[in-house]
Amino acid sequence: MRFEISKVLDAIEGRVCTDPSLARAVLDLAEVIRYQDLDGGRPASLLRLGMVIDALSRELAEDSVPVYAIVHRALLSDADLTSNERMVVRRWADDGLVEVLDNPGDRMLEVADLLGLPVVSRVRFDGLRGRFPWLVEQPGRVVAPVPGAGGPAFVAHVGGGPTPVEGDRSPVGGQLLARRWRCPEPGCALFGGGGGGGAFADLARVDRAPAGQPPPALRNGVPTCPRHGARLSDAGPRPRSEVLAIRIGGLIRRRFVLTEDEPVTVGRAPEETGGVMLGQWLNDEARRWISRAHVRFELRVGEVIVTDVSTNGSGIRPNGSMAEAERVPLAPKQSRVLGGADMVELYPGVQVGRARELPTGAAFTPTSVMAEAPTMAMRLPRN
Ligand SMILES: [Zn+2]
Repeated sequence: MRFEISKVLDAIEGRVCTDPSLARAVLDLAEVIRYQDLDGGRPASLLRLGMVIDALSRELAEDSVPVYAIVHRALLSDADLTSNERMVVRRWADDGLVEVLDNPGDRMLEVADLLGLPVVSRVRFDGLRGRFPWLVEQPGRVVAPVPGAGGPAFVAHVGGGPTPVEGDRSPVGGQLLARRWRCPEPGCALFGGGGGGGAFADLARVDRAPAGQPPPALRNGVPTCPRHGARLSDAGPRPRSEVLAIRIGGLIRRRFVLTEDEPVTVGRAPEETGGVMLGQWLNDEARRWISRAHVRFELRVGEVIVTDVSTNGSGIRPNGSMAEAERVPLAPKQSRVLGGADMVELYPGVQVGRARELPTGAAFTPTSVMAEAPTMAMRLPRN
C-alpha cells in the first residue's frame, strides 16, 4: 500500500512544473489538498492533487497535463499531511517544480494573468476583478473542481461550463518572458542556475533551463523573486524555444520544449538525455516500426529542423494534411525544416508538430488502454 502511494506521488511529480511553456493551469496546493469532499478521506491529502490533474487531462483531452502549483510555506510542515507527503512537497520545492511562498497573496492570479493560464480554484476572487478583468470577462478562465461520478469535475465560475479556458499572456507577461532573470539569493530554485554567470550561479541547487524560468513577480513594477522578495537582475534575452507536441491516435500525449541549447530525440526508447520515449503509447506494430531513437529535433535560428535517425524512415505531412498523396517521405539520415503547421509522422497515427498547430480531440483513452488496444487504423507507409 505504502509503495503504491509513493508510486502515485512520483507520477504526480511528473505533472507539476513552473515552466511557462508547459504548465496548463495554476492552482494553490494548500487549497486543493483540502478538498475533502472529493474522496471523503483525511483532512489533507496530496493525492487530491493527482485527482485534479487527472480531471484536467480528461477535460483538455490530453495526456500528461502539468500544473503550476503555488505552495504556502506552512504546507511544508502541515501536520495534516503524512511525513512522506511533506517530504515529497519539500523535494518539489527544492527542485523548483513548485513555487513556495511565505505569503502567496495574489500570486496565483498574477501567474494566471502573466501566462494566460486558467485557474483551478473554488475561491471567489470578488475583490480582484478590477485588477484581473478576465475573472469575470472570460468564461471558463476559473474553474472549481467539484465531486463528480468518475472523479472531480469542473464548473466554471463564469459561464458554468466544464472546460478550463486559456487566455492570452498579458503584454507585461510577454515582456517579462522575453528576458531571463537572476535572483541574488544563493541557491534560488526559481531564478538561479541556468549557466548565465552571476556571483552565486555555482551555488544554485537547480541548474534550470533558462527557457523554463517561471514568470517573475511584479512589485511596484519591479521584477521580483516571489520566493525571496529580492529584486531580480536582467540576465539577458531568454533563449528561443519552441513547444512541440506528440500526438498518437489523435490525442496529444506529451508536449516538450525545444531550445537552441539541446536537440531532442523522439523514439520508442531513446537513450539520449532529455529524449522523449513513446513506447508506452504504442501497439506492437508501431513498436516494431519505430526505432529506439527515430527522429531528432533541433532549433537553429528559430527554425525547427527534423532529422530522421531511424532504420525505417518517417514522413512529413505538409501543413498537417492527412491526404496520403501529399505525404513526403523522410528517409533515414534526411533532414528537413519543419514549416509552421507541418507534422512529422513516425508511423501512421504517431505525429510530432508544433503544439499550437496540433489539434487534439480523439475520444480520451487512458494511456494503458492505448498501448494494448489501439483503435486507430495502423497501416505501414507505402514508401
Ligand atoms: Zn529567489
